[in-house]
Amino acid sequence: MKPTKTRASKVVKAKGKPSSSGKRAKRVYFFGGGKAEGNKDMKNLLGGKGANLAEMTNIGVPVPPGFTITTEVCTEFYQNGGKLPKDLDTDIPAAVAKMEKLLGKKFGDPANPLLVSVRSGARASMPGMMDTILNLGLNDEVVAGLAKAADSERFAYDSYRRFVAMYGDVVLEMKPERKEDHDPFEVILTAKKKACGVKVDSELPASALKELVGEFKAAIKEHKGVDFPTRPLDQLAGAIKAVFRSWENDRAKVYRKLNNIPADWGTAVNVQAMVFGNKGNDSATGVCFTRSPSTGENEFYGEFLTNAQGEDVVAGIRTPQKIVDLEKEFPVAYKQLLDIRKKLEKHYKDMQDIEFTIENKKLFMLQCRNGKRTGFASVRIAVEMVDEKLIGKDEALRRVEPEALNQLLRPVFDSSAKASAVKEGRLLAKGLPAGPGAATGRIVFFADDAEAWAAKGEAVILCRHETSPEDIRGMNASLGFITAFGGMTSHAALVARQMGKVCIVGCDAISFDYHARTMTVATAKGPVTLKEGDWVSLDGFAGEFINGRINTTPSEVIRVLIEKNLDPRNAPVYQQYHKLMTWADSVRRLKVRANADQPDQAAAAVAFGAQGIGLCRTEHMFFGEGKIGPMREMIVAENEQTRRAALAKLLPLQREDFAGIFRAMGGRPVTVRTLDPPLHEFLPHDEAGMRELAQATGKSLDAIRQRIADLHEANPMLGHRGCRLGVTYPEITEMQARAILEAAVIVNKEGIKVEPEIMIPLIGTKKELDLQVALVRATAEKVAAESKSKLRYMVGTMIEIPRAAITAEQVAITAEFFSFGTNDLTQTTFGLSRDDVPKVLAAYLDKEIYKVDPFVSIDREGVGFLMKHAVTAGRKTRKDLKCGICGEHGGDPASVQFCDSIGLDYVSCSPYRLPIARLAAAQAVLNK
Ligand code: PEP
Ligand code: MG
Repeated sequence: MKPTKTRASKVVKAKGKPSSSGKRAKRVYFFGGGKAEGNKDMKNLLGGKGANLAEMTNIGVPVPPGFTITTEVCTEFYQNGGKLPKDLDTDIPAAVAKMEKLLGKKFGDPANPLLVSVRSGARASMPGMMDTILNLGLNDEVVAGLAKAADSERFAYDSYRRFVAMYGDVVLEMKPERKEDHDPFEVILTAKKKACGVKVDSELPASALKELVGEFKAAIKEHKGVDFPTRPLDQLAGAIKAVFRSWENDRAKVYRKLNNIPADWGTAVNVQAMVFGNKGNDSATGVCFTRSPSTGENEFYGEFLTNAQGEDVVAGIRTPQKIVDLEKEFPVAYKQLLDIRKKLEKHYKDMQDIEFTIENKKLFMLQCRNGKRTGFASVRIAVEMVDEKLIGKDEALRRVEPEALNQLLRPVFDSSAKASAVKEGRLLAKGLPAGPGAATGRIVFFADDAEAWAAKGEAVILCRHETSPEDIRGMNASLGFITAFGGMTSHAALVARQMGKVCIVGCDAISFDYHARTMTVATAKGPVTLKEGDWVSLDGFAGEFINGRINTTPSEVIRVLIEKNLDPRNAPVYQQYHKLMTWADSVRRLKVRANADQPDQAAAAVAFGAQGIGLCRTEHMFFGEGKIGPMREMIVAENEQTRRAALAKLLPLQREDFAGIFRAMGGRPVTVRTLDPPLHEFLPHDEAGMRELAQATGKSLDAIRQRIADLHEANPMLGHRGCRLGVTYPEITEMQARAILEAAVIVNKEGIKVEPEIMIPLIGTKKELDLQVALVRATAEKVAAESKSKLRYMVGTMIEIPRAAITAEQVAITAEFFSFGTNDLTQTTFGLSRDDVPKVLAAYLDKEIYKVDPFVSIDREGVGFLMKHAVTAGRKTRKDLKCGICGEHGGDPASVQFCDSIGLDYVSCSPYRLPIARLAAAQAVLNK
């Protein structure tokens, strides 16, 4: 471990050495006999487990006594090159003596032995990642005493052989020598079972278990050259060091990385008196949750095993029984457990995950912590705890991870069907989980096939190297899509989230042979080739690509809000969702808008609580019915006159699109962006398409080819796109402004108040914006005169280029509003193509150059700095400058919090991320 300088110096100065008052640092915290030195708020020092053992002791829950060695000792241990601080030589025996006194047993005394467990316990739970040693304190003399005290030789030697194997493995590090080898203790055990003619460990007689102890010790001596320690205090010191060492094992390191747990936190060590669930049929052990972690239902949920140790429940060798059955076998302990369940929930005010052991009918609690749960459970528990008056609404809002709301919206795989698919080896590859949900369908490789197949009622999954705007209709027709290329803000990803499709991007294990209509997946077991029409499944939560079908079901919330085929009164999950959203809306300051380009998307956005549209990308409309032809004519036009002729054909079609959106939004504000992507994205790339275009325009095929070649750009993302299109072809902006404003006139006349916000993309200089705004205003004057109506509208700009952000004070002279296009602003600030990011992302995250993908969560230091500056500078010029965000970050909880902190007026995101944004915006206020 490399402790940070600050922490290291803090430990040595403040804790490791006597303070100026001469008092020495407290390293060991005792719990037992109804009193503890720690409490639940000391997780940083005592770890989660230690803090909760102390708390349970303090509130009168039966916990075997013990002590916690602090996380700061872990830091000292690493600083001292793997040595425990000297003070522990006296602190540990003193704490053990306290345990002995409470229990009337003695550590290492054969007459009445005390045995202990030694467990890890970090601030954040890291289940199974670090090491544990049970039954510590046994040696050849003590085991005899244990047999006598328990009146069972078998039990005593079973405990002893488990201890020697665990200690040998964890402390003395007797591991398999090569990766192909089995665990050395397991090898000896298997041979013993064979020699005794038995199948399972529990059938081994006491004599065989006794032999095993000797054989284990002999093997340790042979391979590690050391004698097994016999002095219990030596055993204890060895175990404590081993648990500290396990903070740095590979499993723990990987887990920390995945869960953003800092390496310098360290683990605490808990030493606790052993209680035995394997002392016979009046003993048991179990794990339970105070409510269902899967659905959130307020039912006692868990399982137990009679005559077993904790690890047997987890190992799954014997099938555990349901917790309700405990009542039959252990009526007194069960009743006590029910009382503790209530007590703990009342005390912690959250669902608890608890571990217990019953020794000779007596109940002991070994652990409690806030239980991990699904999104469904998270919402239900939070809402119901408010109803039960356990917590307030604000706390309920804080409790639910905004991202967890995704689970309530997406279709879901039948969980057992998915598990068996994985078990059958059908998991093919993993990519980036860009569109959460579950989709099963048949492979198609082309967008037009997707449409055609879907029209015939087929469920299709569009599989492509990448997607482009011309695939939009096929994407809409598909249940989901997977691409080999592209990151979390690639075209496929943002369309998926906008449409609510399941999507995996950047899955570089797949490659395509479009001619043969096949794709090949490079799997660990070799290449797997799939062909058009084959069934596949996408798990968009996990980014998993699975061979074959898996059944799915639409979510309750979608059926109520979007499909409108479920009565909300019969939809309990919807009701919980609705309650939580209503509370969030009453708390948040930020407004929420949606990125939507079509009336149906706008309607979905309103259903999900959108207060407006923050980004209507007009380019998506050009792929609608009858529009791509004139669009292409416009692009290949050689002069303004022919271009205007083509634009005239597009005008009524666009006007109709905008009117549809304005109607769907019912008077809420709508921001429409003028054309943005490079023009060649709209052109046909295949021979047939070029021929069609040649015919429609009366040009030769060669001329079309030449024009397409002319439009080729080396770096189209930084080329002829955004406002540059409108600057070079002003008639495009004029046509679009006219279509927007005429649609506003029409819909206004229908009685819906529309005030469009026209937005110019990708400006870098004020002058670019000036030119575009002048065109819009001139067009508006004409439309107003022609329609004899008063037009209300705004013109603003996207901030997507650092120069625009830096010069925001000037830009705001012209712009009536700013909308941060953080997809491009991230791309241009980092100088990293948003589509090529997957090529470097894994390495950059691994080397911690990026903490998170900057295309997913706003980079506060760089992109965020520019945003903050732009807001402040813009508002210097225009005090009431409306500022929002419409990049994909608008639906990312951490980014929403940032947007709140810099005073944006709204966030805009894909309709299906709106619930997340609403909750995140509420949390931004609550967590200030
Ligand atoms: C952006 O750049 O953040 C944005 C919203 O525009 P687009 O993704 O269409 O480039
Ligand atoms: Mg952009």
